[in-house]
Amino acid sequence: MDERERIDDRLVSPEAGEADAEERGLRPRTLAEYVGQEKVKENLRIYLEAARLRGEPMDHILLYGPPGLGKTTLAGIVAQEMGVQIRITSGPAIEKPGDLAALLTNLQEGDILFIDEIHRLSRQVEEVLYPALEDYALDIMIGKGPSAQSIRINLPRFTLIGATTRAGQLTGPLRDRFGVLLKLELYSPDELARIVMRSAGILGQPCTPEGALELARCSRGTPRVANRLLKRVRDFAVVLGDGSIDKETALLALKRMDIDALGLDELDRSLLRAVIELYGGGPVGLDTLAAALGEEAVTLEDVCEPYLMQMGFLTRTPRGRCVTRLAYEHLGMTPPPPPEKEADTARSAGQQSLF
Ligand code: ADP
Repeated sequence: MDERERIDDRLVSPEAGEADAEERGLRPRTLAEYVGQEKVKENLRIYLEAARLRGEPMDHILLYGPPGLGKTTLAGIVAQEMGVQIRITSGPAIEKPGDLAALLTNLQEGDILFIDEIHRLSRQVEEVLYPALEDYALDIMIGKGPSAQSIRINLPRFTLIGATTRAGQLTGPLRDRFGVLLKLELYSPDELARIVMRSAGILGQPCTPEGALELARCSRGTPRVANRLLKRVRDFAVVLGDGSIDKETALLALKRMDIDALGLDELDRSLLRAVIELYGGGPVGLDTLAAALGEEAVTLEDVCEPYLMQMGFLTRTPRGRCVTRLAYEHLGMTPPPPPEKEADTARSAGQQSLF
């Protein structure tokens, strides 16, 4: 099984898997339907209104944040609100400058080009993108050697929406060409419960607010995970209960799926246990940890760590990852004595030796 499949198999993975193919039906289509991210929505409303009043396309937008938080959904909403078409592609799919040129020349005035994982664009492709973003133009070289000529093709005025899980990996020149930078945050349990209730309504699945809240608490702050848990718990509700998702059914199903009360699954727990048992609680470097767990470093960094850090179980220090007392307590392990005590003991031992 390759790495990709392993990630997709994880029930609480925020990455989109095959089983999420029907998630399109659950996607909000308007800003009003889009739950949470209030700050992003407020700003976006103003930018959209201003662009509409000026009769111009929206400025280029960069959306960043962990996977499954609604970046693609938001791009679709911008297209819907502006009444334009959206073309969806991703950084790795645009292999050559010619691929990008084909995409750009097929756009209509005002259209949106959405590039997911934009940090994975190659340098050559990025260079073609710069004049397209700044001057709506493509510079193409024709011929080779001394007779080579550069010709400029004008493009329709379009909006690029780039999405990335790692804004830090974007090159400076590319980042500077986005007029609007929007950071998506992990969702609160209340917001996720609203998303679960909304999705249950669309799926025609009876669900109580208490049941929705239990699923929300275990969804790692991520709508994609919330929707996925909802779909799995549906099966338990039908087979083991009366078909409705209430608190008991939700708790029972989550237990059967090995997801603990805070939404940690086996991989999260193994990560924390490895830091504690193999590296004395840390610090340990990400690559060392990934090798010990037999996982890719990027999986741990993009998928496990944001949530473990948000829960206060893990910290990143310049020397590596460290677990916190909360992690020990959550795993039912005894944390080491706090460092102040050690310092105190050392100090008093030092004093004693003086006398
Ligand atoms: P990303 O592009 O960030 O990986 P997506 O936009 O594909 O995430 O969102 C994943 C799923 O989560 C979508 O199918 C959508 O149903 C749901 N979702 C995301 N954000 C929201 C939101 N704010 N409100 C309701 N559902 C959402």
